[in-house]
Amino acid sequence: MSHVPRIILKQGREKPLLRGHPWVFSGAVAKIEGDISPGDMGEVYSTDGEFLGTGYVNLHSQIIFRLLGKEKLRSLDELVRRRISQAASLREDWFRDKTNAYRLVNGEGDFLPGLVLDRYGETLVLQISTAGTERLKPILIDTLVRDFHPRTIFERSDVPTRKEEGLPETVGHLYGKEVTDQIEIEEYGCRFRVDVKKGQKTGFYLDQRENRFSIREHCAGKKILDCFCYTGAFSVHAGMGKTSEITLVDSSKDALEESKLHLELNSLSPLRHEEIQGDAFDVMRVLSADYDLIILDPPPFAKKKSHILSASRGYKDLNLHAFRLLKEDGLLLTFCCSHHISPDLFQKIVFSAAVDAGKNIQVLARLGHPLDHPVNLSHPEGEYLKGLLCRVL
Ligand code: SAH
Repeated sequence: MSHVPRIILKQGREKPLLRGHPWVFSGAVAKIEGDISPGDMGEVYSTDGEFLGTGYVNLHSQIIFRLLGKEKLRSLDELVRRRISQAASLREDWFRDKTNAYRLVNGEGDFLPGLVLDRYGETLVLQISTAGTERLKPILIDTLVRDFHPRTIFERSDVPTRKEEGLPETVGHLYGKEVTDQIEIEEYGCRFRVDVKKGQKTGFYLDQRENRFSIREHCAGKKILDCFCYTGAFSVHAGMGKTSEITLVDSSKDALEESKLHLELNSLSPLRHEEIQGDAFDVMRVLSADYDLIILDPPPFAKKKSHILSASRGYKDLNLHAFRLLKEDGLLLTFCCSHHISPDLFQKIVFSAAVDAGKNIQVLARLGHPLDHPVNLSHPEGEYLKGLLCRVL
């Protein structure tokens, strides 16, 4: 491997890599030795010539290098296969008999930067966000076919961040039989249909699975508002928990249509339910105040650091509306999936909404990612989902 390009870091800039952080930013680089095309494998060295790791390089990206391993690379095939097998064994052990839909590989959290792999039954959905991982596609497909025997592999690399890597957005069939329009999956005894071709993310919000399941025990006989419901997955779990009445709100007409079908599919259509299409802020403003449980699961309002202030206002408004609409003793399950809003800031925002609403609030639980969305402890940027279960007094 003597021709592997080398990235030499500026003095003192090796610390993050030594501590396991997988990214090198362009500002940390002193010198590059060798010719590099986007996505080529490379090695990183300190100014003093200490070898720090192997990974892939993209000089067009602000993140110039992403670490794959701290050792010299012997076989890329072997490394990718080992990482995927480590990722799969965690999920297979935990999710057997609970669900057949989970995140099989969670990028940096599974030490495979730039790769998301979601399993929906026998269909695997691949999402590649970096030029380095794009180059790994043939190895990835080979490994998946050999080790998992999927019916279909479908690609949903329609993520805007690919632009920063010089890659176009790509959606399409990669292997096996054509993907069906709706794939039926099971999650803790609930049935859902997933549209991996056109649905949001790779088709389903797998990251909320455990939080959805956790609400069941609080639902019996309760009147529930499911805001930002997408295809109604929280509502279906609430129905399983014997809720008495649900209002579902989302801006997407298609998602709401699907939520109705999901209630039917789970034999919950006799339950009193109403679907409201619209902007949740406007809808909540005009609803009457008598809910027992409100779920707020909005999209990320702060996609960049510069959005933190306006996003905080948005989250505060939503939570203020929710506190106003809850009965005494009611519960609020409130989420934020903006990485740039820390758990601490999110709690402050909810606190500030409670103060404005003039309510006393208890925090009953703090919620986050499920274990198929692991976070590399050296890469806190991978953490994004936080939630609070609050009780209004
Ligand atoms: N709770 C869902 C996931 C919600 S994702 C689940 O468990 O599956 C966020 C949802 O918010 C998306 O369905 C999106 O269509 C919807 N959305 C985005 N902006 C909105 C707005 N201003 N008002 C209402 N819904 C909105």
